[in-house]
Amino acid sequence: MQYISTRGGEPVSAAEAIVRGISPSGGLFVPQEFPSVPMQNWVNQNNYPTLAATIMQPYLDMPEEQLLELTKSAYSNKFDDPNIAPIVKLDEKECIMELFHGPTLAFKDMALQMLPYLMRHSLAEVGGGKQVYILVATSGDTGKAALEGFCDVPGTAVHVFYPHEGVSRAQLLQMVTQQGKNVYVSGVHGNFDDAQTAVKCIFANASLNQQINEAGFSLSSANSINFGRLLPQIAYYYSAYAKLVQDGSIKQGDKINFCVPTGNFGNILAGYYALRMGLPIKKLICASNRNNVLTGFFQDGVYNARRPFYKSMSCSIDILVSSNLERLLFEAANRDASQVSSWMQALSGDGSYRISDDAKKTLGNVFYADWCDEQQTLDTIRKYFDKYGYLMDPHTAVAQTVFERYRAQDDTPTVLLSTAHPFKFASDVLGAFEKAQEDEFENVARLSKITGVKIPDSIAALENSPVIHDFVCDLADMPKRVLDVL
Ligand SMILES: *Cc1c(COP(=O)(O)O)cnc(C)c1O
Repeated sequence: MQYISTRGGEPVSAAEAIVRGISPSGGLFVPQEFPSVPMQNWVNQNNYPTLAATIMQPYLDMPEEQLLELTKSAYSNKFDDPNIAPIVKLDEKECIMELFHGPTLAFKDMALQMLPYLMRHSLAEVGGGKQVYILVATSGDTGKAALEGFCDVPGTAVHVFYPHEGVSRAQLLQMVTQQGKNVYVSGVHGNFDDAQTAVKCIFANASLNQQINEAGFSLSSANSINFGRLLPQIAYYYSAYAKLVQDGSIKQGDKINFCVPTGNFGNILAGYYALRMGLPIKKLICASNRNNVLTGFFQDGVYNARRPFYKSMSCSIDILVSSNLERLLFEAANRDASQVSSWMQALSGDGSYRISDDAKKTLGNVFYADWCDEQQTLDTIRKYFDKYGYLMDPHTAVAQTVFERYRAQDDTPTVLLSTAHPFKFASDVLGAFEKAQEDEFENVARLSKITGVKIPDSIAALENSPVIHDFVCDLADMPKRVLDVL
């Protein structure tokens, strides 16, 4: 498979797309076409690594047996559930796919446990002997998942930038206590959008790149702008479908919906790619919190990032500039790179753009979008615990709130993607039951007592882990910081 950029340029191989992360034109790499994988090849499969290798193989220049070795290593006993992405049935028409069973308790592990294997394979092919220096901007969960995935992986270094006051206490502790010889963590004074923009500028900074090259490294990304991040995510949409067929909830060929709490649009875009590959999907439901720029985009065809940025409980979707939407725009524009470039120019200039009515209509056939506020999020956490004994994290609860409203108009069976373990946000989740205290670990203990949900070992361990990374800098100092740690 060859990859082309959403803003034009020559096609590159899968290995190059993964090692580079972002295209030299500033666009994102997308596959030249969407392969289809016949249903009989995966629908009876209940082994996650095998299914993932089957779905990912057509995108990569690698024999399936070799890829299977990699998926087996990635989806191993680092996950605390043998199903890797287990499904929990809530009622006749809704089930929840839990994507938080990896080492950092967020769905980012689904991709970031796999990406290092893809990266090493790709480096061996096209790396030219250079090591790869991975820059990450995180809204909280990607950072830890990238650190965990790349920690002590030969030939790589990873540097995470997180918004100093924009992540949960557990997310912060997870990152600043990370061990490993090749890992760096820096707080920045700014929000996620600021950090992500600064990282994109570093990628585009020629003289900085040259200095990094001279030090023996080439830059890459572990954010979902890297196609190697998206690809592993496509697999769990297939896995969910296969599970519903296997347990008799649906028949082969029936369409289902997916509902996804959405920030940078990577997770739900993988669902769209699955649809384009032929997975029977009716609607992709895009759920946002108060930072509801995507709701406006799907409802009105106008993307308007000129609005206040709110800090919320579902902080991993506190995003106003959704990077991966660019890949969807590329499809909505019938793969017209110059059209995408002009929208993106308008976005970085005026902070907004409008798509054509045709494009809006095309997207509306597949996507539905809505949002909810903080109180509704808390109410949903409480309601679903009381009703089903099921405890949701704030991101999952955002999706659940949106889905609960949506289902009045469509009773298609729906899989709701749960993206984080509730104990990653214990202080906020506890707020659904009673007033939380100052101390995070008191709240963790209290939440466990009230709900009967066991405290994950990795959360308990944070209380006594030493802080290793305490550096915080201004946005303007990020380029210097990138060089300093080398
Ligand atoms: C990253 C994240 C999301 C958003 O996923 P995108 O791919 O950025 O849309 C949602 N929930 C949690 C818990 C996350 O960590």
